[in-house]
Amino acid sequence: MSSNFARQVLITGGNRGIGLAIARGLLARGHDVIVTSRSLETATQAAEKLGERATALELDVSNEESIRQAMTTLHQTTERLDGLVNNAGIYPDDGIDILTVSRPLLDRAMQANTFGAVRMVQECLPLLERSTDARVVNVSSGYGSLKGLSAGVPSYCLSKLALNGATIMLAQALESKGIAVNAIDPGWVRTDMGGVSAPRSPEQGADTAIWLATEASNRQTGKVWRDRQAVAF
Ligand code: NDP
Repeated sequence: MSSNFARQVLITGGNRGIGLAIARGLLARGHDVIVTSRSLETATQAAEKLGERATALELDVSNEESIRQAMTTLHQTTERLDGLVNNAGIYPDDGIDILTVSRPLLDRAMQANTFGAVRMVQECLPLLERSTDARVVNVSSGYGSLKGLSAGVPSYCLSKLALNGATIMLAQALESKGIAVNAIDPGWVRTDMGGVSAPRSPEQGADTAIWLATEASNRQTGKVWRDRQAVAF
């Protein structure tokens, strides 16, 4: 089943890059978005540019106190969520490899890219359960597939591999509630993270996430997608 109504979708890291393009795409289709940044000022600036159907929320997915405060605000301002896009992510591996990566750096990547997404699903669940068609989309990476693992990108690869695993487990846990959970590989995208040489625009990187959050069959769950096709990982 896919259904067509004005959705309320929260996008972590929705202030720039792929997250901002996801927000724009959802707004263009008539949905409402909540965009987050670690800075309220930055999130507010993004929401003001996006228009009146966008609202801002301060959120650091690596920080439990920040999640608690964001959830308090969210529960006061929002009756339900129809979508959660776990887009926030960091790529902290420049100049290091699997033989030199430190435990604190591994921890930073896992906290932001993996555990943050799991915690957001846990915390948003009461709001997602109030939707008739809730979807979770985790923004993963080709680096998170077994064939994409690279010794030169250690913490990022491990964190996205684990995010794909978390996607499968969350999908299992939420299937009986009718909540679809999928991950996407957006490809190499021109953003602050991807750099100017990347071949894909933010809009191209955002397309599959927007589709999964809205039009795709909600019976599709627990998969990784690229360009609207389920891919092996
Ligand atoms: P950007 O660096 O442009 O944006 C990253 C976003 O994540 C920002 O909005 C940032 O917000 C937010 N963010 C970072 N850390 C945290 C945190 N701890 N808590 C909350 N928000 C956080 O990256 P992209 O747009 O390129 O990346 C978006 C997603 O796409 C990421 O998950 C990334 O791994 C994935 N991806 C990107 C690819 C690419 O080529 N660009 C390729 C494959 C996957 P702020 O700093 O304002 O807090």
